[in-house]
Amino acid sequence: MKYIKYIVAAVTLAIALTAFSFAPRVVTESAFLLDTYISVTVYDGDKDAAKAAVSCTEEIDRMLSAFAADSEISKINHAPRGTAVPVSDACFSLISRALFLSEQTDGAFDITVKPVMDLWDFGGTPTVPEKKELALAVEKVNYRAVLLDDIKKTVILQKDGMAIDLGGIAKGYAADCAMEVLKNAGVQNACLDFGGNVVTMGEMPLSLIDRIKHGAKSRPFAIGIQNPNEARGTVSETVLAQRSPCAIVTSGGYERNFTENGTTYHHIINPKTGMQPDNGILSVTVVAASSETADALSTALFVSGEAGISRVSGLYDEIIFIMDNGEVKTFR
Ligand code: AMP
Ligand code: MG
Repeated sequence: MKYIKYIVAAVTLAIALTAFSFAPRVVTESAFLLDTYISVTVYDGDKDAAKAAVSCTEEIDRMLSAFAADSEISKINHAPRGTAVPVSDACFSLISRALFLSEQTDGAFDITVKPVMDLWDFGGTPTVPEKKELALAVEKVNYRAVLLDDIKKTVILQKDGMAIDLGGIAKGYAADCAMEVLKNAGVQNACLDFGGNVVTMGEMPLSLIDRIKHGAKSRPFAIGIQNPNEARGTVSETVLAQRSPCAIVTSGGYERNFTENGTTYHHIINPKTGMQPDNGILSVTVVAASSETADALSTALFVSGEAGISRVSGLYDEIIFIMDNGEVKTFR
């Protein structure tokens, strides 16, 4: 009888050790980069890999920031018009894919929207621009006036006052690159969140208790989509990651906005008018293999609405619109 308490203690210890050995070793690295909070979560306990993914994002931020004077994008933007600016292969190919997506979306996504974004000044003191000024800025926007030389890897901005803003695609591109870093390091299960750009790889390993409960070692990642009308973190819909990697990217007017004279203005602009689209859409989520593509498409579809879907068939798995009347529209 006196041994019973030792036996109970030994069994408890054994259970605790087993549970510990089955517990997923979760490592998260976070940073403020690309003008947003990014987080890299690795379920295989590889902290170095998570750190390497963040370092890779830092490099991309340095390359693409339109604010840092020495970034490649700033060099393009500040060169005298018509100058052929040599850029790195990575920067060149990103711009060229961005222009392809501009073409696919009939300019609803347009990386030359910067002169208009500068007037709205979301990074500083946001204000509603004067109509005349806005009209002049809109004239400078045209992705077709970006000339690329595939051999020399140069970029030319042809129009006076033109400038590039990769804010609508950079986070997606960086998340794809960061996931590639994790994959190359041997990580099998991970989830990245780059300010609304989520990318998952593999599945989410379960704790011992959940393994017993569900009869499985892991389950597909379930990504919640923000309810645009509720406090941050309130989920409206849930998307199950059904491919690996899987990108789930949301563009929403609730992300960055200001109110002037009772009207709220957000940071996604119709490049043809210089104004926020008025189409009843509160957010667009795009599910795709590539986070870069999903990023550009979510921005574009926020502008074009459902009418833009037919032009981008084959580039996405699923599109979810959340409308201002509460309706949720899903397209596959
Ligand atoms: P996202 O949050 O991915 O929808 O991107 C919004 C950001 O992309 C803005 O902060 C701008 O920097 C930029 N942007 C806004 N409107 C557009 C547009 N129509 N096409 C391309 N980039 C845009
Ligand atoms: Mg985007």
